[in-house]
Amino acid sequence: MDAAAQEATSQGAGITVVKGARLIDGLGGNVLRDAVVLLSGKRITRVGSVSEVAIPAGAKVIDAGQCTLMPGLIDGHVHVAAYNVVSFNNYRIAMYEVSPQLQSFYTLFHAQLCFEMGFTTLRDMGRNNAWANFATELCAVRDAINSGIVPGPRLLVSGRIMTTGSHHDMNLPRAAYRHPGYTADGPWGVRTAAREHIRTGVDIIKVCVTGGASADEEGDTRNLTQEELDAAVDEAHGFHKPVAAHCWTALSHRMCVQAGVDTIEHMVFTDDESTRIVRESGTPVSPTLLHRTDRAIEVRQRMGSPLNVLKKMREIQPRCYESFKRMHQAGVKIFMGTDIQYDPEMGSNSAELELYVALGMSSMEAIMSATRSAAQAMGIDADTGTLEPGKFADLIAVDGDPLHDIKILQDRDRIRLVMKEGKPYVDKLAAAPLYVLHPQPGERKMFE
Ligand SMILES: [Zn+2]
Repeated sequence: MDAAAQEATSQGAGITVVKGARLIDGLGGNVLRDAVVLLSGKRITRVGSVSEVAIPAGAKVIDAGQCTLMPGLIDGHVHVAAYNVVSFNNYRIAMYEVSPQLQSFYTLFHAQLCFEMGFTTLRDMGRNNAWANFATELCAVRDAINSGIVPGPRLLVSGRIMTTGSHHDMNLPRAAYRHPGYTADGPWGVRTAAREHIRTGVDIIKVCVTGGASADEEGDTRNLTQEELDAAVDEAHGFHKPVAAHCWTALSHRMCVQAGVDTIEHMVFTDDESTRIVRESGTPVSPTLLHRTDRAIEVRQRMGSPLNVLKKMREIQPRCYESFKRMHQAGVKIFMGTDIQYDPEMGSNSAELELYVALGMSSMEAIMSATRSAAQAMGIDADTGTLEPGKFADLIAVDGDPLHDIKILQDRDRIRLVMKEGKPYVDKLAAAPLYVLHPQPGERKMFE
Protein backbone atom coordinates (compact mmCIF):
# COMPACT_ATOMS: atom_id res chain seq x y z
CA MET A 1 0.00 0.00 0.00
CA ASP A 2 1.43 3.38 -0.93
CA ALA A 3 1.47 6.34 1.44
CA ALA A 4 -1.64 7.98 -0.10
CA ALA A 5 -3.66 4.77 0.20
CA GLN A 6 -2.45 4.33 3.77
CA GLU A 7 -3.47 7.89 4.57
CA ALA A 8 -6.94 7.30 3.06
CA THR A 9 -7.37 4.06 5.03
CA SER A 10 -6.42 5.70 8.28
CA GLN A 11 -9.19 8.30 7.72
CA GLY A 12 -11.73 5.54 8.07
CA ALA A 13 -10.08 3.90 11.06
CA GLY A 14 -12.52 3.65 13.93
CA ILE A 15 -15.46 4.67 11.77
CA THR A 16 -18.42 2.36 11.22
CA VAL A 17 -20.87 2.88 8.40
CA VAL A 18 -24.36 1.39 8.42
CA LYS A 19 -26.22 1.34 5.10
CA GLY A 20 -29.92 0.66 4.53
CA ALA A 21 -32.64 1.05 1.89
CA ARG A 22 -34.46 3.67 3.95
CA LEU A 23 -34.02 5.53 7.21
CA ILE A 24 -36.55 6.82 9.72
CA ASP A 25 -34.67 9.33 11.84
CA GLY A 26 -37.33 9.70 14.56
CA LEU A 27 -37.87 13.40 13.80
CA GLY A 28 -41.09 12.75 11.90
CA GLY A 29 -39.99 14.11 8.53
CA ASN A 30 -39.48 12.36 5.24
CA VAL A 31 -37.98 8.93 4.99
CA LEU A 32 -34.43 9.02 3.66
CA ARG A 33 -33.77 6.61 0.78
CA ASP A 34 -30.49 4.71 0.33
CA ALA A 35 -29.32 5.91 3.70
CA VAL A 36 -25.91 5.92 5.33
CA VAL A 37 -25.14 6.45 9.01
CA LEU A 38 -21.55 7.13 10.04
CA LEU A 39 -20.50 6.58 13.59
CA SER A 40 -17.35 6.95 15.58
CA GLY A 41 -17.09 5.38 19.01
CA LYS A 42 -20.47 5.55 20.70
CA ARG A 43 -21.93 8.38 18.67
CA ILE A 44 -23.33 9.20 15.25
CA THR A 45 -21.22 11.62 13.22
CA ARG A 46 -23.19 11.85 9.97
CA VAL A 47 -26.54 10.80 8.50
CA GLY A 48 -27.35 11.17 4.81
CA SER A 49 -27.96 9.43 1.52
CA VAL A 50 -25.35 7.37 -0.32
CA SER A 51 -25.10 10.10 -2.94
CA GLU A 52 -24.16 12.83 -0.48
CA VAL A 53 -22.06 11.07 2.16
CA ALA A 54 -18.62 9.84 1.21
CA ILE A 55 -17.69 6.59 2.91
CA PRO A 56 -14.17 6.96 4.31
CA ALA A 57 -11.71 4.39 3.06
CA GLY A 58 -10.98 1.78 5.70
CA ALA A 59 -14.28 2.27 7.51
CA LYS A 60 -16.10 -0.82 8.73
CA VAL A 61 -19.26 -1.18 6.64
CA ILE A 62 -22.44 -2.91 7.85
CA ASP A 63 -24.69 -3.26 4.83
CA ALA A 64 -28.30 -3.75 5.95
CA GLY A 65 -29.45 -4.12 2.33
CA GLN A 66 -33.23 -3.73 2.02
CA CYS A 67 -33.71 -3.00 5.70
CA THR A 68 -35.09 0.16 7.26
CA LEU A 69 -32.70 1.89 9.67
CA MET A 70 -34.35 3.51 12.64
CA PRO A 71 -33.56 4.62 16.19
CA GLY A 72 -33.38 1.93 18.85
CA LEU A 73 -36.86 1.55 20.34
CA ILE A 74 -37.79 2.73 23.82
CA ASP A 75 -40.41 1.22 26.11
CA GLY A 76 -41.20 3.83 28.72
CA HIS A 77 -43.12 1.56 31.08
CA VAL A 78 -42.05 -2.02 31.66
CA HIS A 79 -41.66 -4.36 34.62
CA VAL A 80 -38.67 -6.51 33.80
CA ALA A 81 -38.62 -7.77 37.38
CA ALA A 82 -41.94 -9.57 36.86
CA TYR A 83 -42.13 -12.65 39.01
CA ASN A 84 -40.93 -15.90 37.57
CA VAL A 85 -44.12 -17.89 37.23
CA VAL A 86 -42.56 -20.61 35.07
CA SER A 87 -42.13 -22.95 37.99
CA PHE A 88 -45.17 -22.05 40.01
CA ASN A 89 -47.83 -21.07 37.45
CA ASN A 90 -49.14 -18.47 39.84
CA TYR A 91 -47.58 -15.10 40.51
CA ARG A 92 -48.95 -14.90 44.03
CA ILE A 93 -47.13 -18.11 44.89
CA ALA A 94 -44.01 -17.22 42.90
CA MET A 95 -43.51 -14.04 44.90
CA TYR A 96 -42.93 -16.23 47.96
CA GLU A 97 -41.13 -19.13 46.27
CA VAL A 98 -38.58 -17.19 44.22
CA SER A 99 -35.82 -15.42 46.11
CA PRO A 100 -34.95 -11.83 45.21
CA GLN A 101 -31.49 -13.12 44.23
CA LEU A 102 -32.91 -15.56 41.64
CA GLN A 103 -35.42 -12.97 40.55
CA SER A 104 -32.53 -10.64 39.69
CA PHE A 105 -31.39 -13.12 37.03
CA TYR A 106 -34.92 -13.26 35.61
CA THR A 107 -34.91 -9.48 35.56
CA LEU A 108 -31.82 -9.45 33.36
CA PHE A 109 -33.24 -12.19 31.14
CA HIS A 110 -36.46 -10.24 30.61
CA ALA A 111 -34.52 -7.10 29.72
CA GLN A 112 -32.49 -9.09 27.21
CA LEU A 113 -35.64 -10.49 25.58
CA CYS A 114 -36.78 -6.91 24.92
CA PHE A 115 -33.28 -5.88 23.80
CA GLU A 116 -33.21 -8.55 21.09
CA MET A 117 -36.47 -7.12 19.75
CA GLY A 118 -34.83 -3.75 19.14
CA PHE A 119 -35.54 -2.07 22.49
CA THR A 120 -32.27 -0.37 23.34
CA THR A 121 -33.79 1.56 26.27
CA LEU A 122 -36.29 0.42 28.88
CA ARG A 123 -37.71 2.50 31.69
CA ASP A 124 -38.63 0.10 34.45
CA MET A 125 -41.48 1.07 36.74
CA GLY A 126 -40.36 -1.11 39.60
CA ARG A 127 -41.45 -4.04 41.67
CA ASN A 128 -42.01 -4.69 45.32
CA ASN A 129 -42.08 -8.12 46.81
CA ALA A 130 -42.62 -9.75 50.15
CA TRP A 131 -39.13 -8.73 51.32
CA ALA A 132 -39.05 -5.13 50.28
CA ASN A 133 -38.87 -2.81 47.36
CA PHE A 134 -36.93 -4.42 44.51
CA ALA A 135 -35.01 -1.22 43.69
CA THR A 136 -31.62 -2.52 44.89
CA GLU A 137 -31.83 -5.52 42.57
CA LEU A 138 -32.99 -3.42 39.62
CA CYS A 139 -30.09 -1.02 40.16
CA ALA A 140 -27.70 -4.00 40.25
CA VAL A 141 -28.98 -5.32 36.92
CA ARG A 142 -28.72 -1.85 35.39
CA ASP A 143 -25.19 -1.39 36.71
CA ALA A 144 -24.07 -4.85 35.54
CA ILE A 145 -25.24 -3.95 32.02
CA ASN A 146 -23.61 -0.53 32.15
CA SER A 147 -20.36 -2.10 33.35
CA GLY A 148 -20.33 -4.40 30.35
CA ILE A 149 -20.47 -7.52 32.51
CA VAL A 150 -23.62 -8.69 30.74
CA PRO A 151 -25.28 -7.52 27.51
CA GLY A 152 -28.57 -5.67 27.80
CA PRO A 153 -30.50 -2.51 27.07
CA ARG A 154 -30.05 0.82 28.78
CA LEU A 155 -32.20 0.56 31.90
CA LEU A 156 -33.72 3.42 33.84
CA VAL A 157 -35.09 2.08 37.09
CA SER A 158 -37.66 3.25 39.61
CA GLY A 159 -37.97 3.25 43.33
CA ARG A 160 -41.57 2.93 44.47
CA ILE A 161 -43.04 5.08 47.17
CA MET A 162 -45.57 2.82 48.84
CA THR A 163 -48.24 4.52 50.89
CA THR A 164 -50.35 2.24 53.05
CA GLY A 165 -53.10 0.48 51.14
CA SER A 166 -51.96 1.95 47.82
CA HIS A 167 -51.74 0.07 44.53
CA HIS A 168 -48.08 -0.74 45.15
CA ASP A 169 -48.82 -1.97 48.67
CA MET A 170 -51.71 -4.09 47.39
CA ASN A 171 -49.43 -5.83 44.90
CA LEU A 172 -48.82 -8.00 47.94
CA PRO A 173 -51.76 -10.09 49.16
CA ARG A 174 -53.82 -8.33 51.81
CA ALA A 175 -52.82 -10.73 54.60
CA ALA A 176 -49.10 -10.90 53.76
CA TYR A 177 -46.78 -9.85 56.57
CA ARG A 178 -45.26 -6.43 56.01
CA HIS A 179 -42.25 -5.58 58.11
CA PRO A 180 -42.20 -2.23 59.91
CA GLY A 181 -41.37 0.57 57.49
CA TYR A 182 -42.66 -1.32 54.44
CA THR A 183 -45.01 1.57 53.69
CA ALA A 184 -44.63 5.30 54.22
CA ASP A 185 -47.30 7.93 54.80
CA GLY A 186 -47.59 11.65 55.25
CA PRO A 187 -45.47 14.30 53.55
CA TRP A 188 -42.34 13.54 55.59
CA GLY A 189 -42.85 9.80 55.26
CA VAL A 190 -42.91 9.97 51.48
CA ARG A 191 -39.95 12.38 51.48
CA THR A 192 -37.93 9.87 53.50
CA ALA A 193 -38.98 7.05 51.15
CA ALA A 194 -37.87 9.12 48.15
CA ARG A 195 -34.52 9.87 49.79
CA GLU A 196 -33.95 6.21 50.61
CA HIS A 197 -34.60 5.22 47.01
CA ILE A 198 -32.31 7.94 45.75
CA ARG A 199 -29.60 6.70 48.11
CA THR A 200 -30.10 3.22 46.62
CA GLY A 201 -29.39 4.70 43.20
CA VAL A 202 -32.69 4.77 41.34
CA ASP A 203 -33.20 6.96 38.29
CA ILE A 204 -36.89 7.70 38.88
CA ILE A 205 -39.32 7.98 41.76
CA LYS A 206 -42.61 6.20 41.12
CA VAL A 207 -45.80 7.04 42.98
CA CYS A 208 -49.33 5.67 42.88
CA VAL A 209 -51.96 8.36 42.84
CA THR A 210 -54.81 5.87 42.42
CA GLY A 211 -55.54 2.22 42.89
CA GLY A 212 -55.10 -0.26 40.06
CA ALA A 213 -55.79 -3.85 39.13
CA SER A 214 -54.47 -5.71 42.14
CA ALA A 215 -56.75 -8.14 43.91
CA ASP A 216 -57.87 -6.24 46.96
CA GLU A 217 -58.30 -2.70 45.74
CA GLU A 218 -60.45 -0.53 43.53
CA GLY A 219 -58.84 1.26 40.60
CA ASP A 220 -60.75 4.51 40.95
CA THR A 221 -59.65 5.22 44.52
CA ARG A 222 -57.26 7.97 45.60
CA ASN A 223 -54.03 6.56 47.08
CA LEU A 224 -52.43 9.67 48.49
CA THR A 225 -53.27 13.25 49.26
CA GLN A 226 -52.25 16.27 47.20
CA GLU A 227 -49.93 17.22 50.07
CA GLU A 228 -48.18 13.83 49.91
CA LEU A 229 -47.90 13.97 46.11
CA ASP A 230 -46.52 17.52 46.23
CA ALA A 231 -43.96 16.41 48.84
CA ALA A 232 -42.84 13.40 46.78
CA VAL A 233 -42.40 15.50 43.65
CA ASP A 234 -40.65 18.31 45.50
CA GLU A 235 -38.26 15.88 47.16
CA ALA A 236 -37.45 13.98 43.95
CA HIS A 237 -36.93 17.18 42.01
CA GLY A 238 -34.65 18.47 44.76
CA PHE A 239 -32.39 15.54 43.90
CA HIS A 240 -32.90 16.10 40.15
CA LYS A 241 -34.93 12.91 39.79
CA PRO A 242 -38.11 12.73 37.76
CA VAL A 243 -41.42 11.41 39.07
CA ALA A 244 -43.61 8.91 37.25
CA ALA A 245 -47.18 8.72 38.52
CA HIS A 246 -49.50 5.74 38.19
CA CYS A 247 -52.96 7.21 37.53
CA TRP A 248 -56.30 5.72 36.63
CA THR A 249 -58.63 8.68 37.10
CA ALA A 250 -59.34 12.19 35.85
CA LEU A 251 -58.92 13.48 39.42
CA SER A 252 -55.43 11.98 39.61
CA HIS A 253 -54.46 13.65 36.33
CA ARG A 254 -55.43 17.01 37.79
CA MET A 255 -53.49 16.28 40.97
CA CYS A 256 -50.42 15.32 38.92
CA VAL A 257 -50.46 18.49 36.87
CA GLN A 258 -50.76 20.53 40.06
CA ALA A 259 -47.83 18.68 41.65
CA GLY A 260 -45.71 18.87 38.50
CA VAL A 261 -45.03 15.16 37.96
CA ASP A 262 -42.85 14.36 34.96
CA THR A 263 -44.89 11.56 33.39
CA ILE A 264 -48.39 10.17 33.83
CA GLU A 265 -48.68 6.40 33.55
CA HIS A 266 -51.73 4.65 32.05
CA MET A 267 -54.88 5.81 30.31
CA VAL A 268 -57.93 4.40 32.04
CA PHE A 269 -60.65 6.82 33.19
CA THR A 270 -60.42 10.31 31.67
CA ASP A 271 -62.73 13.17 30.87
CA ASP A 272 -62.49 16.09 28.46
CA GLU A 273 -61.59 18.58 31.19
CA SER A 274 -58.72 16.53 32.66
CA THR A 275 -57.48 15.76 29.16
CA ARG A 276 -57.38 19.48 28.38
CA ILE A 277 -55.45 20.18 31.59
CA VAL A 278 -52.93 17.44 30.82
CA ARG A 279 -52.46 18.67 27.25
CA GLU A 280 -51.96 22.27 28.34
CA SER A 281 -49.42 21.21 30.97
CA GLY A 282 -47.41 19.31 28.35
CA THR A 283 -47.08 16.32 30.69
CA PRO A 284 -46.38 13.19 28.63
CA VAL A 285 -48.67 10.19 29.13
CA SER A 286 -47.90 6.54 28.60
CA PRO A 287 -50.94 4.50 27.39
CA THR A 288 -49.92 0.94 28.44
CA LEU A 289 -52.60 -0.66 26.25
CA LEU A 290 -50.85 -3.96 25.57
CA HIS A 291 -51.51 -4.86 29.19
CA ARG A 292 -55.26 -4.31 28.53
CA THR A 293 -55.74 -6.65 25.59
CA ASP A 294 -57.75 -9.89 25.50
CA ARG A 295 -54.47 -11.74 25.18
CA ALA A 296 -53.11 -10.11 28.34
CA ILE A 297 -56.31 -11.00 30.22
CA GLU A 298 -56.08 -14.60 29.03
CA VAL A 299 -52.47 -14.84 30.26
CA ARG A 300 -53.45 -13.29 33.58
CA GLN A 301 -56.20 -15.87 33.95
CA ARG A 302 -53.69 -18.67 33.46
CA MET A 303 -51.16 -17.25 35.89
CA GLY A 304 -53.56 -17.21 38.76
CA SER A 305 -55.08 -13.74 38.76
CA PRO A 306 -58.12 -13.73 41.04
CA LEU A 307 -61.53 -13.52 39.38
CA ASN A 308 -62.17 -9.97 40.57
CA VAL A 309 -58.96 -8.83 38.85
CA LEU A 310 -60.01 -10.44 35.57
CA LYS A 311 -63.46 -8.87 35.85
CA LYS A 312 -61.88 -5.46 36.46
CA MET A 313 -59.53 -5.90 33.49
CA ARG A 314 -62.44 -6.78 31.19
CA GLU A 315 -64.46 -3.80 32.42
CA ILE A 316 -61.75 -1.20 31.92
CA GLN A 317 -60.53 -2.39 28.50
CA PRO A 318 -63.00 -0.31 26.42
CA ARG A 319 -62.46 2.70 28.70
CA CYS A 320 -58.71 2.53 28.11
CA TYR A 321 -59.09 2.43 24.32
CA GLU A 322 -61.58 5.31 24.53
CA SER A 323 -59.19 7.35 26.69
CA PHE A 324 -56.36 6.75 24.23
CA LYS A 325 -58.50 8.10 21.37
CA ARG A 326 -59.59 11.09 23.46
CA MET A 327 -56.04 11.98 24.51
CA HIS A 328 -54.56 11.42 21.06
CA GLN A 329 -57.22 13.53 19.38
CA ALA A 330 -56.77 16.28 21.98
CA GLY A 331 -53.04 16.46 21.21
CA VAL A 332 -51.70 15.10 24.51
CA LYS A 333 -48.02 14.12 24.36
CA ILE A 334 -48.01 10.33 24.15
CA PHE A 335 -44.96 8.14 24.64
CA MET A 336 -44.93 4.40 24.32
CA GLY A 337 -45.23 2.27 27.41
CA THR A 338 -46.55 -1.27 27.54
CA ASP A 339 -46.69 -2.24 31.22
CA ILE A 340 -45.32 -5.61 30.07
CA GLN A 341 -44.75 -7.96 32.96
CA TYR A 342 -46.01 -11.54 33.08
CA ASP A 343 -48.48 -10.65 30.36
CA PRO A 344 -48.67 -10.98 27.50
CA GLU A 345 -45.01 -11.94 26.81
CA MET A 346 -41.65 -10.35 27.49
CA GLY A 347 -40.30 -9.09 24.19
CA SER A 348 -43.70 -8.46 22.61
CA ASN A 349 -43.41 -4.72 23.38
CA SER A 350 -43.93 -3.59 19.77
CA ALA A 351 -47.47 -4.98 19.75
CA GLU A 352 -48.32 -1.80 21.67
CA LEU A 353 -47.64 0.19 18.49
CA GLU A 354 -50.07 -1.93 16.49
CA LEU A 355 -52.78 -0.93 18.99
CA TYR A 356 -51.94 2.77 18.60
CA VAL A 357 -52.29 2.50 14.83
CA ALA A 358 -55.57 0.57 15.17
CA LEU A 359 -56.86 3.38 17.43
CA GLY A 360 -56.00 6.23 15.09
CA MET A 361 -52.29 7.03 15.13
CA SER A 362 -50.32 7.07 11.91
CA SER A 363 -47.45 4.58 11.74
CA MET A 364 -44.99 7.48 11.88
CA GLU A 365 -46.62 8.87 15.03
CA ALA A 366 -46.54 5.40 16.60
CA ILE A 367 -42.83 5.03 15.80
CA MET A 368 -42.12 8.48 17.20
CA SER A 369 -43.93 7.57 20.41
CA ALA A 370 -41.34 4.80 20.87
CA THR A 371 -38.35 6.89 19.81
CA ARG A 372 -38.10 10.68 20.10
CA SER A 373 -41.23 11.23 22.23
CA ALA A 374 -40.21 8.49 24.67
CA ALA A 375 -36.68 9.91 24.94
CA GLN A 376 -38.12 13.39 25.57
CA ALA A 377 -40.54 12.08 28.21
CA MET A 378 -37.65 10.35 29.96
CA GLY A 379 -35.31 13.33 29.68
CA ILE A 380 -32.68 11.45 27.67
CA ASP A 381 -33.32 13.02 24.25
CA ALA A 382 -29.92 14.72 24.21
CA ASP A 383 -28.43 11.22 23.82
CA THR A 384 -30.97 8.96 22.16
CA GLY A 385 -34.36 8.70 20.43
CA THR A 386 -33.32 10.00 17.01
CA LEU A 387 -30.66 9.27 14.43
CA GLU A 388 -28.75 12.54 14.30
CA PRO A 389 -25.09 13.56 14.58
CA GLY A 390 -24.05 13.77 18.22
CA LYS A 391 -26.57 11.20 19.46
CA PHE A 392 -25.64 7.73 20.67
CA ALA A 393 -25.63 5.20 17.86
CA ASP A 394 -28.69 3.38 19.23
CA LEU A 395 -29.81 1.99 15.93
CA ILE A 396 -31.77 -0.95 14.61
CA ALA A 397 -32.23 -2.41 11.13
CA VAL A 398 -35.62 -3.93 10.34
CA ASP A 399 -36.25 -6.10 7.31
CA GLY A 400 -39.10 -4.28 5.51
CA ASP A 401 -40.90 -0.99 6.01
CA PRO A 402 -42.61 -0.49 9.40
CA LEU A 403 -44.38 2.61 8.06
CA HIS A 404 -46.16 0.32 5.63
CA ASP A 405 -46.79 -2.42 8.21
CA ILE A 406 -46.14 -1.63 11.86
CA LYS A 407 -46.53 -5.31 12.77
CA ILE A 408 -43.16 -6.25 11.28
CA LEU A 409 -41.53 -4.82 14.41
CA GLN A 410 -43.02 -7.77 16.30
CA ASP A 411 -41.22 -10.31 14.13
CA ARG A 412 -37.95 -11.29 15.74
CA ASP A 413 -36.52 -12.61 12.47
CA ARG A 414 -36.94 -9.19 10.89
CA ILE A 415 -34.95 -7.39 13.60
CA ARG A 416 -31.62 -7.81 11.80
CA LEU A 417 -29.38 -5.43 13.70
CA VAL A 418 -29.54 -4.03 17.23
CA MET A 419 -26.81 -1.56 18.07
CA LYS A 420 -26.46 0.28 21.37
CA GLU A 421 -23.94 3.09 21.75
CA GLY A 422 -22.21 2.06 18.54
CA LYS A 423 -21.79 -1.59 19.48
CA PRO A 424 -23.77 -4.29 17.67
CA TYR A 425 -25.37 -6.79 20.06
CA VAL A 426 -27.62 -8.48 17.51
CA ASP A 427 -26.28 -8.75 13.98
CA LYS A 428 -28.03 -11.23 11.71
CA LEU A 429 -26.49 -9.51 8.67
CA ALA A 430 -23.03 -10.78 9.50
CA ALA A 431 -21.54 -14.01 8.14
CA ALA A 432 -21.29 -15.19 11.73
CA PRO A 433 -24.53 -13.88 13.27
CA LEU A 434 -24.53 -12.30 16.68
CA TYR A 435 -27.31 -12.80 19.23
CA VAL A 436 -27.90 -11.88 22.84
CA LEU A 437 -30.36 -14.69 23.49
CA HIS A 438 -31.85 -17.40 21.36
CA PRO A 439 -35.47 -17.91 22.35
CA GLN A 440 -38.31 -16.28 20.43
CA PRO A 441 -40.52 -13.99 22.50
CA GLY A 442 -43.22 -16.25 23.86
CA GLU A 443 -41.10 -19.33 23.25
CA ARG A 444 -40.26 -19.46 26.91
CA LYS A 445 -43.77 -20.00 28.16
CA MET A 446 -44.95 -18.90 31.53
CA PHE A 447 -47.24 -21.97 31.43
CA GLU A 448 -47.18 -25.42 29.95
ZN1 LIG B 1 -46.91 -0.65 35.48
